[in-house]
Amino acid sequence: MHSDLAYPENVIPPLRFQFCPICTARLTREVIFEDNIPRIKCPACGWIQLSSNAVAVVVVARNEQGIAAIIPPSEAGVGLPAGLVEYGEDPAESAVREVFEETGLEVKMVDCLGWIFINRISWPGPLVQIMYEAEIIGGQVKGSNEGEAKIIPLSEFPTISPSRTGSQKAMQAYLAKVGVG
Ligand SMILES: [Zn+2]
Repeated sequence: MHSDLAYPENVIPPLRFQFCPICTARLTREVIFEDNIPRIKCPACGWIQLSSNAVAVVVVARNEQGIAAIIPPSEAGVGLPAGLVEYGEDPAESAVREVFEETGLEVKMVDCLGWIFINRISWPGPLVQIMYEAEIIGGQVKGSNEGEAKIIPLSEFPTISPSRTGSQKAMQAYLAKVGVG
């Protein structure tokens, strides 16, 4: 009898492969490259599991009226437009897309405000979140399944939801940049 391959705690359940996704053979763990890191490999077809951190974006989208917020119905605070970067998608384009999907607003990129790393052990796993500043250039404010959307003046901007680390950090980075707070 084989026992299941064990995985580190931060490998999310959908990535805990036991059998090869290409040829269905039972997988093994062994050092393959000179980096001495044991990796999951298929002894039959040579498939190697090389999982990447998830990549996400979060956007401070602003105009003269204020900053675009989303108001999630079941959270103790607001959020900024954010979401996962699709496979093969440029993060800056993902940022424009997410703002439009979640707020109905069209934006153009102004600046990258840096990035944060969140070592999550829940879906989608360890996450690199890139923070952007964008200027609202059109569209009409419209909510999504994330909640209602609204442009709120900076001076009246509500507390950001405690579960939205990326939104908090992006706002901090934006305030530091413009010399507020
Ligand atoms: Zn295989």
